[in-house]
Amino acid sequence: MPVGSRVLTGCVVEYPAEPSVGELKDVIEILDHDPLLPPGVVSLCRWVADYYLAGIGDAIVTAMPPGARRKATSFKTARVATVTALGSDPLTRADSRDLTPKQQEALEILAVSSTGLPLSALRERGVSGDVIARLAKRGLVALREEAADRDPFERAVMRDVAPSPTRVLTTDQAEAFTQLAALADGGDFRVALLHGVTGSGKTELYLRLAERARRNGRQTLLMVPEIALTPSVTALFRGALGQRVAIQHSGLSDGERHDQWHRIRRGDVDVVVGTRSAVFAPLTRIGVIVVDEEHDTSYKQEEAPRYHGRDVAVVRGREEKALVVLGSATPSMESYQHSLSGKYVKATLGKRVLDRPLASVRLVNMREEYADQGPDAVISRVLAAGIADRLTRREQVLVLLNRRGYATAVFCRQCGDTFECPNCTISLTVHTARQGWKARCHYCNYSMTVPRACRKCAAPYLEQAGFGTEKVEQQLRDQFPGARIGRVDRDSVRRKGALTSILSRFAAGELDVLVGTQMIAKGHDFPRVTLVGVISADVGLGVADFRAGERTFQLLTQVAGRAGRGERVGEAIVQTLYPEHYSIQLACRQDYAAFFEREIAYRRGMRYPPVVALVNVVVRGRSFEDAMRTASDAVQWLKPFAVAGSFTILGPAPAPLVRLRGEHRVQFFLKGGKRADMRHALEAMLAEMPEIRRKVTIDVDPLNVT
Ligand code: ADP
Ligand code: ZN
Repeated sequence: MPVGSRVLTGCVVEYPAEPSVGELKDVIEILDHDPLLPPGVVSLCRWVADYYLAGIGDAIVTAMPPGARRKATSFKTARVATVTALGSDPLTRADSRDLTPKQQEALEILAVSSTGLPLSALRERGVSGDVIARLAKRGLVALREEAADRDPFERAVMRDVAPSPTRVLTTDQAEAFTQLAALADGGDFRVALLHGVTGSGKTELYLRLAERARRNGRQTLLMVPEIALTPSVTALFRGALGQRVAIQHSGLSDGERHDQWHRIRRGDVDVVVGTRSAVFAPLTRIGVIVVDEEHDTSYKQEEAPRYHGRDVAVVRGREEKALVVLGSATPSMESYQHSLSGKYVKATLGKRVLDRPLASVRLVNMREEYADQGPDAVISRVLAAGIADRLTRREQVLVLLNRRGYATAVFCRQCGDTFECPNCTISLTVHTARQGWKARCHYCNYSMTVPRACRKCAAPYLEQAGFGTEKVEQQLRDQFPGARIGRVDRDSVRRKGALTSILSRFAAGELDVLVGTQMIAKGHDFPRVTLVGVISADVGLGVADFRAGERTFQLLTQVAGRAGRGERVGEAIVQTLYPEHYSIQLACRQDYAAFFEREIAYRRGMRYPPVVALVNVVVRGRSFEDAMRTASDAVQWLKPFAVAGSFTILGPAPAPLVRLRGEHRVQFFLKGGKRADMRHALEAMLAEMPEIRRKVTIDVDPLNVT
């Protein structure tokens, strides 16, 4: 479409009989003659745009395959080689003494593949294109062009994924499965919370539900919180269900995403495995939607449209009359509340499979450790002894610290100057770099080399404070020089494929210790891990966030759940400054029900979600006064709606990050029982004060307030 002087690509979502605009221009070209998105996905996008007060355009773009807005979305072709009759004839081959060893090897590889192999796959096995070209010239190999699905799965390194179709379900599993299968067969919209302790075999149930759905002629959407979890789950599903399993996540290349997307759109798959954006996968016959680790905050998108993948999954299930299964060992307060009220069906797996015990958890009071070892102690003696023990027994260890970098601050001992980000109100994090130290802002990526002397007073007394994963890694290397140690955090896995590679090395036993942030706490199944160390269990508890207790409980329970998943018993050693805090105590006992009771009482008392709903509005400005003025205007405007709609407005007040990327920020909250009232008020405000649109960020059901 021509828009002003530009040509833009649009998406038709509606075709009104009467245009609402007077003068219409002609469409330049129609790119797709069949609708790209299925109707179910378009209406889902409209729901998202509405509920989250986002633009329909943002929602549609999220649902589109990459490259769809450009004209040519290309399908790649691959050259596939097959051995010819001549090439597979043992006589010719025996005769061909002039074949090089490489050429013979190539023929042998091809001989066992009836459909042939793409040149890329041959290259991976050490057979070059030249070798094949020579064989083709002699008529021993045939080459053809084939539309290739760029399948990200081919690249993933997989181990230990032998599926066992004959596996017998445990009593717990069988009971839960009967319950869930009945719901799936019913063909109605239902939501079930599958509350299963870590290692209770939830994945096995997902697999059987997918099988069941396929037999009923319907498809399964399986959502996982983390890109790194997709390869192993996909391998499992492909092992059990065959090749009709597609992958959707943002870590794929555009080409891969495009091909996978079109496979799904053509109806060529039974199962889609993916992260939050997979909730928009163009499936048309969904019978089961599984959201694994439903409590995980990665399901929330922190940019427009700010949707929660789990909540959108439930809506999609409603629209497509599917069974939605929310699985977790530590359900979100929201979902558990619904399971108690009867809105969701509850299914429980109370025990680990094969009666494996849950890991025992030991608390180490770091205040005592500081008193004995000095204030720089990072790894307690108990944990160090535990690690040494595992190393001699050739078992594996996970060490968790939910804070990356080497040190969390730099300051001058003489004048007290600290290194703050020039764009954000946050101190810079120190990272180890090839040439000395780098200080970096985790919000805007501002980065500087840490000088030898203070910038203000020139004294050579710069000191570092606090610690993150890099320092833990270094201390472990110093203490255990013989151990093979790896690190997983956002800095160490920046390169594409790095995360999968390090996780599979750990799974293969090529590493003894894995240090990392919460990335290592999620869902992975490493049977040889018998010890999990948590360096600072209370990282989250200092934060002024009403969900801090819930997050801490979830993280500790999940990470303790990584230990002892194999034959041998597991142990978790948890270092903390607040050993008496209820979320730490109850996580140690892995007592979810007690935690929920305690936490919901607090939420009720304070009127926090899930007891009420929240909307966060951040107003940005060139100066603080500017932002504050706009926010106050908005609040004034909303007040009459609040009275009529029975919600309250909290603020305006400075946002936690008063400055972010050079902008000044002021925030306020709407809080109330009915989201619709708050939404309508905000919609009316945006319509009435259009100039505010560019300056505000609205977050419905916010999880992270910055
Ligand atoms: P969860 O997702 O509940 O933490 P998993 O699905 O990863 O648990 O299962 C834990 C381990 O138990 C896995 O290694 C899985 O292969 C195994 N497992 C699951 N069900 C059974 C069963 N019925 N019999 C034997 N092993 C099982
Ligand atoms: Zn910054």
